[in-house]
Amino acid sequence: MKEYKVPFVDLRKQIKDLKSEFDSAYERVMQSGIFLWGSEVLAFEKAFAAHHGVPYCISCANGTDALELALRALGIGKGDEVIVPANTWISASETVSYTGATPVFADIDENTFNLSAEDVERRISDRTRAIIFVHLFGNPAGFEKIHRIAAEHGLILIEDCAQGHEASVKGNLAGTLGHLGCFSFYPSKNLGALGDAGAMITRDAGLAEKFKQIANHGQLRKNVHVSEGRNSRMDELQAAFLNVKLKYLKKWTWQRQQAAQVYFQLLQNSDIILPETEEGSSHTFHLFVVRVKQREKVQQYLDQKGIQTAIHYPLPLPFTEAYKSRGYNKTDFPVACQLSGEILSLPMFPEITSEQIHYTCKSLLKAVKSS
Ligand SMILES: *Cc1c(COP(=O)(O)O)cnc(C)c1O
Repeated sequence: MKEYKVPFVDLRKQIKDLKSEFDSAYERVMQSGIFLWGSEVLAFEKAFAAHHGVPYCISCANGTDALELALRALGIGKGDEVIVPANTWISASETVSYTGATPVFADIDENTFNLSAEDVERRISDRTRAIIFVHLFGNPAGFEKIHRIAAEHGLILIEDCAQGHEASVKGNLAGTLGHLGCFSFYPSKNLGALGDAGAMITRDAGLAEKFKQIANHGQLRKNVHVSEGRNSRMDELQAAFLNVKLKYLKKWTWQRQQAAQVYFQLLQNSDIILPETEEGSSHTFHLFVVRVKQREKVQQYLDQKGIQTAIHYPLPLPFTEAYKSRGYNKTDFPVACQLSGEILSLPMFPEITSEQIHYTCKSLLKAVKSS
């Protein structure tokens, strides 16, 4: 694998810094001889709920399962429609389909990259049951408008917080604002395990109970299956690692925001369009996504300079092979289509150095000028 001067994400520093804490977490689990349903998972659920000031956190195997189990627990299925953004990771739409319901794509807002309120309103039908709001890139901008629309139409609002750990609106953390919040702890997420893990948080006791049941083969208690369910569990080792890392989440969020400030300073007054932050809400920069003309050329130039970048996402979901049969037109999602050709995710992780950001910005400005 190519060694970049500025990698897109580098998890090694964090692992090195916390090595002794991870070692003792590993030892603790080995000594206990319990690898599922033990005290580490319980401790993490309790701590993650407390972190958000909500009564319930139920763990599961990954962020995609969190969405699917939540949809099932809400009773969403055949005949129902759920509105999802046209530009996000495919989990939101594929999990809606898994339940038998239909994902209805809505276009995104040009400034926030999140769901466009106007387009969401246009796509609401008699069958719409829920909206999945994704705090994409860690940015909760535009959430309040969608919240209002959901309330007006009596729709369930699901927050996909897989990129939104610690993002907040008027002091309220993402995941606590709608009916429930779904989290991924994929290694490179703002809070990541050393493998796969996920969770759902809510204030709704019934929903928490149902979610837990479905994640555990529909069991009310051992061997009492009240429905068919799934097997979706967070294991003790991942929970033990997450218990170590949760303590540092606030610090890492702050470091990401500091890094973002350096990017903002160095890239202002250029042709590069910078991420939009909303007054009163806190963007936690899971990704730092800019817009540039001649994106391919710019990305290539940066790669030559040893700077690794990425695109989130190269193709809006409605135009992927998975949804080809729907026969969408570019005019159905004009904003998502336009942005997908311009967006560029710059290197971002808590430990990124000021030198790395300076070097990235210098190279980026040069690339933009010459392209
Ligand atoms: C990562 C991610 C998911 C899925 O999480 P997994 O743990 O990988 O299943 C869902 N939605 C968004 C927006 C994501 O970024």
